[in-house]
Amino acid sequence: MRFAPRWTTVYSRSRQTKIHPNGFFRMSRVIAIANQKGGVGKTTTAINLGAAIAVLEARVLVVDLDPQGNASSGLGLSQAVDERVTIYEVLMAGGDARAAVRSSVQFPLLDLMPSTRDLVGAEIELVGTVGRETILRRALESIRSEYDFIFLDCPPSLGLLTLNALTAADSLLIPIQCEFYALEGLSQLLSTVQLVQRALNPNLEIEGVLLTMFDGRLNLARQVAAEAREYFGDRVYKTSIPRNVRLAEAPSFGQPILRYDILSDGAQSYLALAEELMMGHGPTAA
Ligand code: ATP
Ligand code: MG
Repeated sequence: MRFAPRWTTVYSRSRQTKIHPNGFFRMSRVIAIANQKGGVGKTTTAINLGAAIAVLEARVLVVDLDPQGNASSGLGLSQAVDERVTIYEVLMAGGDARAAVRSSVQFPLLDLMPSTRDLVGAEIELVGTVGRETILRRALESIRSEYDFIFLDCPPSLGLLTLNALTAADSLLIPIQCEFYALEGLSQLLSTVQLVQRALNPNLEIEGVLLTMFDGRLNLARQVAAEAREYFGDRVYKTSIPRNVRLAEAPSFGQPILRYDILSDGAQSYLALAEELMMGHGPTAA
């Protein structure tokens, strides 16, 4: 029996796009996950949305742009046993992006470009470099066509690493934690987006706004959700991520939630988000 490919590849304009038999329509898309507020669920989303999309049979790369390295450890990569090239060398020495990719971490279609603590110095070391905001974009050029989705997990600041992510990205996904001061600081993030659109990346879009750690029983959470919807309209995902202890436990086992506890609410919500995001790039919305 002849092997029937699951994907049909077509070419539109200069970009390679793919049509999946189940109706999804995809093309290589780079999505920065950013919010300068700390602890809002950026990394949890990069890991688990990335894993969920990979399980739904699209090719995913997660790029860890945070010196804390939480996306790397959350996907099971231990610095102690892996001395290979990381995102640091890619940014600092123009290193080969492909050499920094760890293939098939956790799931066959899920790749990771890890970070290390060295990345702390990158913001300072790159200050004098010409074109310092576009280094990541240039580095990803050679590998982006190998992926359907590339997620950039940003650190909690609007420094050079986040600027590189926004310059390299097609769109920005903003996680918002449904707690006090959730929307505070968003205007600063959005003015940074405008600045990047004007100077570096005119095509940057808002991919979506994700409500994280959501507890619908709390007035406060419902209030934050309503305010976010008032401001961002239908760019707020219908899927919100509940507060779920299994999501908080999974990183200490170096596993995405789909491997750690697939039946948990956290896993199911990231799967639902993956479908919503992929459908958003379907034929009707393209
Ligand atoms: P930083 O700004 O430091 O990079 P972050 O925005 O990447 O943080 P995470 O690391 O994803 O945020 O999440 C912060 C903490 O909250 C982590 O301990 C994580 O395990 C936990 N957490 C994230 N999402 C959830 C959730 N939906 N339910 C319960 N705990 C969560
Ligand atoms: Mg993080």
